Amino acid sequence: MTAPAPIRSIVIVGGGTAGWMAAAALTRLIPAGVSVTLVESDEIATVGVGEATIPPIRSFNALLGIDENDFLAKTQGTIKLGIEFVNWTRDQHRYVHPFGEFGFDIEGVKFHQVWRKLREAGRAEAIDAYNVCALAMTAGRYQPPVTDPGSILSRMAHAYQFDAGLYAKYLRGYAEDRGVVRIEGKVAHVPLRAADGFIEAVILEGDRRIEGELFIDCTGFRALLIEQTLHTGWESWAHWLQCDRAVAVPSASPGPEITPFTRATAHSAGWQWRIPLQHRVGNGHVYCSADISDDAARETLLANLDGAPLRDPFILRFEAGRRKRAWERNCIALGLSSGFLEPLESTSIHLIQSGIHKLMALLPDTGFSAIERDEYNRLTDIQLEQVRDFIILHYHANQRSDGDLWRRMREMAIPDTLRRKLDLFRNRGRFFRYEDELFAESSWIAVLLGQGILPQGWDPLADAFDDDKLAFSLSRIHEMFARAAQAMPRHEDWLARNAPAR
Ligand code: FAD
Repeated sequence: MTAPAPIRSIVIVGGGTAGWMAAAALTRLIPAGVSVTLVESDEIATVGVGEATIPPIRSFNALLGIDENDFLAKTQGTIKLGIEFVNWTRDQHRYVHPFGEFGFDIEGVKFHQVWRKLREAGRAEAIDAYNVCALAMTAGRYQPPVTDPGSILSRMAHAYQFDAGLYAKYLRGYAEDRGVVRIEGKVAHVPLRAADGFIEAVILEGDRRIEGELFIDCTGFRALLIEQTLHTGWESWAHWLQCDRAVAVPSASPGPEITPFTRATAHSAGWQWRIPLQHRVGNGHVYCSADISDDAARETLLANLDGAPLRDPFILRFEAGRRKRAWERNCIALGLSSGFLEPLESTSIHLIQSGIHKLMALLPDTGFSAIERDEYNRLTDIQLEQVRDFIILHYHANQRSDGDLWRRMREMAIPDTLRRKLDLFRNRGRFFRYEDELFAESSWIAVLLGQGILPQGWDPLADAFDDDKLAFSLSRIHEMFARAAQAMPRHEDWLARNAPAR
């Protein structure tokens, strides 16, 4: 038996956000003699939306050694401290999902348990009053976090909003400078090895052949390698997440103020995003095509902009779900080729990042091990299911009276994993984070409470404290956080000083 061939050549197909993120991260292998080639077609456009992110993106950029201010300046980037949800619970209602933690645990008792108890007694403000990101968001202010745990600024957490096309361009420059070879061309054919059905090469129109041992499919919804070639299969989640289209349009900034957050506003057949960048605002209406026509969805979007549209709106079609195996034979799917969850919690770019981390942790050097491949797929499945459940929660726990979509969402059977979380929380506000779950307890609590799920009771451990002392602690926390938020510079001023677009 011949020894398995060492992996010396990695081929990435696709040059959207997924392709260039993978290429940038894989440059770390180039000094060890591995070649990294990226093939992309100028004829096939990237999705081009994907502008809001979540805090772990900072660790991805840090891994690459990217300077934050330079990156913000070159991607027209802004700071994101959380998401404001408007009309999700019911009309005229708003809540925020801020990054960062709520308050401080008190002698090992979770802050939200203490808060729940005092709220019952009318001695606590709304939970946002105890989160410094929520207070800074509302005040339109921002200051970078610090690591000193004695400072309130250590309770800040932030992500970015940026122009996705400029982000891919930025990473392309980074990757090419470090030895990634970019080949422009359209993949026309993908031959498989007769012996094991592994991908042998990709063949471009005009017959250029690019061989490799490991192939990364970043071809977006086309899923050229993982599905069109390897027929891995698709698991639809459209019965839970019924929105299947989005109409998107950039608009002019309405004024000098740049809000440091993404807004998600519910409409009768879906919801609308608003993502402020330095030079414009990104907008889109995600909707269920069974409930509203494309024309009506476009009109709803245009009627709810706060600046003039900068081009004609364009429509994107999708289905919520995942590839049955993200890693199949010698091919790993990253980005839209691996699955899709609507951008309600801005998770897609993170899922690319997380796929890259898992790949780096399980990277084969010689041959392919079934146990490593299966572990990659197992971890990918768990993470996607957890994010899926979090998104379903926003829809399911609604009290909206308009639109059939909202009634269906309220009445549908939800995944058992989400049911267990909801029941535990409803009872005494208990929550457990399983297996490296992406969203922390504070995120779930923000959305559970925001969507109107108030626990019936609280952890009996919270009864061990004196109510007057607790009330005093809570008011001190609120005062300290509010003072810290008010002392921060306005977000647009901070950007102008530190990361003006160029
Ligand atoms: P694409 O951008 O589609 O890139 C595909 C690449 O493959 C292109 O370079 C194309 O040229 C190439 N290609 C395809 N076929 C071939 C071929 N035959 N030969 C050669 N090259 C080929 N994510 C977030 O994190 N935050 C958000 O706010 C967010 N909003 C979104 C809103 C909507 C409506 C949608 C649909 C997605 C959103 N996303 C968001 C997801 C995000 O846009 C994607 O995850 C991200 O852009 C990655 O896309 P991709 O690189 O996988 O695919």
